[in-house]
Amino acid sequence: MTAIDWKGLPFGYFKTDFNIRCYYVNGEWGQLEVSDSEYITMHMAATCLHYGQEAFEGMKAFTGADKKVRIFRLDENGKRLNRSASGLMMPEIPADLFRKAILKAVSLNIKYVPPYGEGASLYIRPLLIGTGAQVGVKPAKEYMFVVFVGPVGPYFKEGFSPVRMQIVKDYDRAAPLGTGSIKVGGNYAASLRASERAHDEGYSSAIFLDAKEKKYIDEAGPANFFGIKNNTYVTPQSVSILPSITNMSLRVIAEEMGMKVEQRHIPVEELAEFEEVGACGTAAVISPICKIVDRETGKEFIYCKDGKAGPVSEKLYNKLKGIQEGLEPDKYGWITVVE
Ligand SMILES: *Cc1c(COP(=O)(O)O)cnc(C)c1O
Repeated sequence: MTAIDWKGLPFGYFKTDFNIRCYYVNGEWGQLEVSDSEYITMHMAATCLHYGQEAFEGMKAFTGADKKVRIFRLDENGKRLNRSASGLMMPEIPADLFRKAILKAVSLNIKYVPPYGEGASLYIRPLLIGTGAQVGVKPAKEYMFVVFVGPVGPYFKEGFSPVRMQIVKDYDRAAPLGTGSIKVGGNYAASLRASERAHDEGYSSAIFLDAKEKKYIDEAGPANFFGIKNNTYVTPQSVSILPSITNMSLRVIAEEMGMKVEQRHIPVEELAEFEEVGACGTAAVISPICKIVDRETGKEFIYCKDGKAGPVSEKLYNKLKGIQEGLEPDKYGWITVVE
């Protein structure tokens, strides 16, 4: 293997040696299989291709200063995949099978886990798809569960430095009673047009508003939104956002730091009152936001001074990273050490 330039890694696909697969046939999950192929062969009438029976997860493994490899909140990701599965009429994956698949995928590719201090990590991508053939709209009878991994750099090329985001009102990502709260490809398909336009117009992401009233902040592209004011961590309460495990963890950390935590509607006008705002998710942990522009009105909300993240965002980020890298105690059982 030629040496990997850990510091230069993008957030993207990286070929590793093995992936894990498991098939659901005749109403039950089979054994975990190890594959060295990057490809999947399937029936052309598979429901994942036609009717969007597809859900995925994203989590990370980190090398700590002590050289141990730690996976962050593995079981919580498994629970969320099962909520997504159930939302799309796919079979759930037993917690034990999920855990074994993830651990196997990481240990078989352990040489691809970036060393401590390179700002990189191993991204873990579990995928659940309907592979059975259907032409009428019905759930498949057969499914495939895949786990692949790959080393990644920071999600936003700016890393932990503030980005610009754009509020859009002419597209919705998810409907209130739709699939916004589960991690399925269809939500991403629905968000591509607005996201690509935001990129073209110089923003790292689009911010979607609640689809019904178009008043409240919903999702910050592929991440949850939060704002900080008066020692309070505020994050949207909404039926159409994906419950981010990073956000869930930050709420616990914020409380531990003596902050108040509020989950409630955040009207667009309130953006003017925040001291700091950011987006959170596995890929970036926290992406501090420097500037938000309302695409329709042109109104601007500006947060950072001299292009730097705010002190509260930085403290939250360091604390969470510290737990992921084993520098802070794992008080809540969030970590699985890869033996
Ligand atoms: C995955 C995802 C997030 C972030 O969730 P984490 O569990 O923190 O990685 C946020 N929003 C959307 C739409 C997502 O798909």
